[in-house]
Amino acid sequence: MDFSRQLIDWYVVNKRELPWRDTQNPYFIWLSEVILQQTRVKQGLPYYKSFVKNYPTVQELAAAPQDDVLKLWQGLGYYSRATNLQAAAVQIVDNDLKFPNTYKELLTLKGVGDYTAAAIASFAFNEAVAVVDGNVYRVLSRIYGIATPINVPAGVREFKELASKLLNKKDPATHNQAIMEFGAMQCMPKNPDCDTCPFQKDCVAFNEGRIAELPVKIKKTKVKSLFHHYIVIQTPSKKLLFNQRDNSSIWAGLFEFPYIDASGGLLPVELTEHEVFKDVVGGSRFRESVYNQEPIIHKLSHRKIHAYFWIVEVEDEINGAITIEEAQERPVHVLMERFMKDFWQLK
Ligand code: SF4
Repeated sequence: MDFSRQLIDWYVVNKRELPWRDTQNPYFIWLSEVILQQTRVKQGLPYYKSFVKNYPTVQELAAAPQDDVLKLWQGLGYYSRATNLQAAAVQIVDNDLKFPNTYKELLTLKGVGDYTAAAIASFAFNEAVAVVDGNVYRVLSRIYGIATPINVPAGVREFKELASKLLNKKDPATHNQAIMEFGAMQCMPKNPDCDTCPFQKDCVAFNEGRIAELPVKIKKTKVKSLFHHYIVIQTPSKKLLFNQRDNSSIWAGLFEFPYIDASGGLLPVELTEHEVFKDVVGGSRFRESVYNQEPIIHKLSHRKIHAYFWIVEVEDEINGAITIEEAQERPVHVLMERFMKDFWQLK
C-alpha cells in the first residue's frame, strides 16, 4: 500500500480549513501547536485568535506581563504551557530574534518537546521529520496492528521509527498534517468511521476486530485526592484576599483565595483553629459559614481536587486585601473561576 499517497488523497478532500494551516510563520504555527496540546480544535481556536491578535509577534509575547498572558490563557488548563511559551519567546528575543529553523534547534526552546519541534520544523520549514502525537499513535497502531504500549520507551521508539519510514520526504508538511487530521476526523478513539476509510482493506485492527484495544497504553498514574478549603475573606468594605501560586506548583502564577490543604472535610472548629486560618484572619473577629456542603470536584491528570469554599466575614480591614474588580483582572484557575462566577454572578 502506498500509505502516504492514500493519506494525502484523503486529506485533500476531507481537511478542515484552519487558520494555522494557511501560514508558514513559525511563530503562529508554534502558538497553535502549544494551544492544541491536550485541547480540542473547537476549544483552542478562539484562544489562538486572541493570542495572534494580542501578541502578533514573538517580541510582543516576550515583552508582555506574565499575568496578562495567563489571563488570556485562562480556561485552557495546563498553565505551564503558557509560562513556557513566554519563556521560550524571551529565549528567541535574546537570541537576536532568530527563530530556530531546524528540528534540533527547536528542541532547545523551553517547553518544546519532540512533537512540537517536529510539527514546527515540518510545517514551517518543510524539514522531513515525522510528528507522533496521540492521533498518529492511534492510526499507526490500528492500521499496522501494533500492540506495543505507546507510553513506554520501546513503544515511543517503535512508533517514531515507523512514522519516519512512512513519511513522505518530498512533502513532509502535508503528510504530517494529513496523518493527524486522519486520526482526528476518521480514525477517532471511539467509533472510527471504518465504513468510508481508504485503509479498511489493509487495516489490521479492522480485519482482526481489535479496534477497541488499540493503541495500548499502560495505566500507571495513581490519582491522588486533595481537599482544599478555600477561605473567602469578606472585609467590611467587601474586599478579599488573593494569593498568587508560586512557580513550582500546578497552576503556577495563577491567583486564588488562601486555602487549607486537609485530608478530608473539615468541621468549622477545625477550620478556625487551623494555623493558615489564624494567619489569614489575624486578630479580627469573624463569622464563618461553608458555601458548599458538597465539594466541587475538579479532576487533573494525577489529582482529584475536592474544593470547599468558606465565607469568612471579618470585622476589620485586612492588609493586602483587594476589591472584587481587581480580583477579576487577575488570572485564575478553573475552580476559582467557577466559584467567582457563581458567587458574584460575574460574566
Ligand atoms: S479501518 Fe477503521 S480502524 Fe482502521 S484505519 Fe480506518 S478508520 Fe481506523
